[in-house]
Amino acid sequence: MARRFDDSRLVLASHNTSKVREIADLLVPFAVSVQSAGDLGLPEPEETGATFAENAILKARASADGSGQAALADDSGFSVAALGGAPGIHAARFAERPDGVRDFDWAMEQLHEASADAEDDLAWFTCALALAWPDGHTEVFEGRVEGALAWPPRGDRGFGYDPIFVPRGGAQTFAEMDPDAKHAISHRAIAFRAMIDACFTPAA
Ligand code: IMP
Repeated sequence: MARRFDDSRLVLASHNTSKVREIADLLVPFAVSVQSAGDLGLPEPEETGATFAENAILKARASADGSGQAALADDSGFSVAALGGAPGIHAARFAERPDGVRDFDWAMEQLHEASADAEDDLAWFTCALALAWPDGHTEVFEGRVEGALAWPPRGDRGFGYDPIFVPRGGAQTFAEMDPDAKHAISHRAIAFRAMIDACFTPAA
């Protein structure tokens, strides 16, 4: 049985303002007041884990230990079957060009060139969520959405690798889809639903 979350405050263990806004929106029905690790001046740990779950735990634990409050962290990434699951946990770093600038157009081109000759077009996004309490307890949830690599990139509504990913059963890329439609089926939504079902109770 997962531990229920019954505190009134939660730290979002991220310094990424779009991620913090997205997670805070998802938590509105649960009457929890949220603050970000950035707002609290908490340090960002090095993501040295070998899996999404390990990295999410590292981030959540650092914020819970640093603030004395429960903390929630998200670690996510994009994997290409023809590349053995790369870039995977390195999806953000993979998008850094040799000059250090983060450039997803360039990163998508790199992925396409490396996998263009492969027959297998399977790709997937993964999201791990870790909820860490200051007493050392942690719960982890994972969500994954599978689909096909698309080329050339299509759409301008999403972020990151969205323009080259068509979820299974769909025709549009994540970047062409209505954001609500993406958020209904995304890796993050799946992990969130699992966490909400296991740990959160809607406010009366
Ligand atoms: P993180 O901030 O270390 O978890 O890095 C996640 C990286 O994975 C982001 O920089 C994106 O490149 C990629 N990623 C994760 N989720 C998505 C998504 O929903 N769409 C597109 N790219 C994503």
